[in-house]
Amino acid sequence: MRIILFGPPGSGKGTQAKLLCEKFNIPHISTGDLLRAAVANRTPLGIKAKEYMEAGNLVPDEIMIGLIHEVLESERAKNGFILDGFPRTVKQAKALDQLLDEMDVTLDGIISLRVEHEEIIRRLTDRKTCSSCGRIYKSDQLKKENPNACPYCGGELFQRKDDDPETARHRLQVYLRETKPLKDFYRKSGRFIQIDGMQDIAVVHEAIVGILRQNRLSAQKESM
Ligand code: AMP
Repeated sequence: MRIILFGPPGSGKGTQAKLLCEKFNIPHISTGDLLRAAVANRTPLGIKAKEYMEAGNLVPDEIMIGLIHEVLESERAKNGFILDGFPRTVKQAKALDQLLDEMDVTLDGIISLRVEHEEIIRRLTDRKTCSSCGRIYKSDQLKKENPNACPYCGGELFQRKDDDPETARHRLQVYLRETKPLKDFYRKSGRFIQIDGMQDIAVVHEAIVGILRQNRLSAQKESM
């Protein structure tokens, strides 16, 4: 199964990707996570990307296209992937199409999560991520006596620097300008499905699973 989870920042792509990855045993490839790890490890990629990320801007296409080549051609993505955060520009989408062509594989679907703008800002500024397992929480899901510990694995929770209110609003503008136009690009492909991302996490998850089953994408891959 090869799918793209598409949507604005804070639409739940990361959360849904993690659930799908656990259910179908397919690697979750988040370009944001890969870049954050590169920044933390001070690799050449991280050094180039850091400034763009902290300002809430997109990392240049050339860098991102190089990165996606490396990841999708690796052993890890051989049998499928859930892409989260890529592509984010039409140039990236065209490069991805070309790469998949060269690899002789096709995308099974582009699942888009629609969330209202005020809700996006509310979610971005109110979320914490586990540094150990990567799960994402809203503040009301955390234990009052220990709000910095992951309820799932006990790992330390952190707030992303680019989730502060000003950068979050800027990221939404960047999405509207650079990434939203991709909806038309993918609509033409006939594999674009939009889901109401305002619903509860479990409801969105079931909707995605329903679509994947309907498309008969998951028959052999499902692990549960
Ligand atoms: P995310 O975790 O997906 O919200 O990504 C965090 C940040 O990483 C973004 O605000 C961008 O600065 C950068 N980033 C991640 N994916 C891409 C991409 N496909 N193109 C450009 N920049 C990206």
